[in-house]
Amino acid sequence: MKKGLLIVVSGPSGVGKGTICNTLINKNKDIYMSVSATTRKPRNGEIHGKSYYFLSEEDFKQKIKNDEFIEYAKVFNNYYGTLKSVIMEKIEAGKNVLLEIDVQGALQVKEKYKEAVMIFILPPSLEVLKERIIGRGSENDKTLNIRLNEAQNEIDMLHNYNYSVKNADLKTACKQVEAIIIAETCKIKIKKQ
Ligand code: ADP
Ligand code: 5GP
Repeated sequence: MKKGLLIVVSGPSGVGKGTICNTLINKNKDIYMSVSATTRKPRNGEIHGKSYYFLSEEDFKQKIKNDEFIEYAKVFNNYYGTLKSVIMEKIEAGKNVLLEIDVQGALQVKEKYKEAVMIFILPPSLEVLKERIIGRGSENDKTLNIRLNEAQNEIDMLHNYNYSVKNADLKTACKQVEAIIIAETCKIKIKKQ
């Protein structure tokens, strides 16, 4: 049976990764969105097991010790990670799995899983990025500034990815990510002898 794709989507906080990924999974039933574990506190409306697995720092560190993560990173002072148990079975079963993760985690995935499809979402500008984070209403002044300061560092890591998609118009950006997934599904993979 043909394995599914492991698709990594990264980009600065507030660029629209979650919005794009949610649009894609609602439309494409063969794409599975990985649910990450985090030590961050839930935001309004976030559900354990759906948005994230919300863990205590102690539980998260225990899972690191047990080698349960394909990747993990400390992002904005909280731990985030992808549990192997959540994704590997799905890929083996032929499902395309989408990981929405930060750049540090993405590089770990690329190292461990060479076939991963790496997509970076760019904002139209840093000014628009700021407006989007403010519009989402999830951050205070301090956490907003931390996220904005980190944005340029993340954009500087673009060369580690296979594709970049600018999220100016949401529909266009979703179409472009979909097109990448279709092309990667049709790609001829030559097995090395
Ligand atoms: P991320 O997951 O990258 O942190 P979100 O998906 O939460 O970002 O998006 C941040 C905010 O920007 C949300 O309020 C979302 O509705 C909005 N947004 C996303 N894409 C667009 C777009 N193309 N145009 C305008 N607003 C957008
Ligand atoms: P947020 O707190 O806004 O939900 O996410 C903050 C950052 O953590 C985003 O850049 C997001 O991509 C990243 N992130 C979410 N889940 C994971 C994960 O499992 N691993 C890593 N490395 N980063 C993640």
